[in-house]
Amino acid sequence: MQTVLITGANRGLGLEFCRQYAAAGCEVIAACRRPEQAAQLRALAGQYSNIEISALDVADLVQIEALAASLAGRKIDVLINNAGVYGDQSGRGFGKLDYQTWASTLAINVMAPVKLAECFLQHLQRSEKPLIASLSSLMGSMADNTSGGSILYRSSKAGLNAAMKSLAIDLRSSGVGVLILHPGWVRTDMGGPNGLIDVEESVSGMRRLIAGFELADSGRFVKYDGSALPW
Ligand code: NAP
Repeated sequence: MQTVLITGANRGLGLEFCRQYAAAGCEVIAACRRPEQAAQLRALAGQYSNIEISALDVADLVQIEALAASLAGRKIDVLINNAGVYGDQSGRGFGKLDYQTWASTLAINVMAPVKLAECFLQHLQRSEKPLIASLSSLMGSMADNTSGGSILYRSSKAGLNAAMKSLAIDLRSSGVGVLILHPGWVRTDMGGPNGLIDVEESVSGMRRLIAGFELADSGRFVKYDGSALPW
């Protein structure tokens, strides 16, 4: 049976990943920072016994180490680095940047996914087809940036892409794959109500890519529908 570890599992795309993988019969380790407040995830776990909820604030590197230690010896097939923040706030663009929020945006969006990969490498290596799937964004693309702004978010997702590309190369010989996913513009708290697609469509597409992943694809930056994206 496949085991999937999902961060930021309590709402948005993370919650939908839990729903779909649980319905497909996978073991789901659903990590979120405040399980006691995660009403929807708890309700889902009540419906599916194959969901286990773990507390994890990805900004806290010690918590990542502790979760990996508590799951020592377990196989994880897919690590989904989903937790993320936007960071940018209206009125706080260039000239009024909030550097503290920028630092925490980089910690959550860039450093945490790499730390998770480091801490869960042994769990992944127990799988026959291990994969690290990181939720990036087209907003991290230089080539696609024609509108400027969103300095915190853009720089964090560009940084994530750079780090994940290196991991794809560094981990290839150990058989661990890396996929860099743009989920589309999705109607969630982050994407807002004008998003072009819903979570069901986005996650179904990303699950198809994860299921069809081959090591030769490692390090690709792709949209939920499988189309390649420019760096
Ligand atoms: P969302 O609805 O805002 O949900 C974000 C999730 O990340 C929440 O579960 C949140 O948990 C969690 N999170 C934030 N900081 C965390 C931390 N320090 N530790 C643990 N969890 C944390 O966003 P979404 O739309 O589902 O986005 C999921 C991913 O897709 C993100 O990486 C995002 O950048 C990416 N993405 C989204 C879109 C879009 O259109 N929606 C487009 C491109 C990329 P709390 O409830 O505890 O805050």
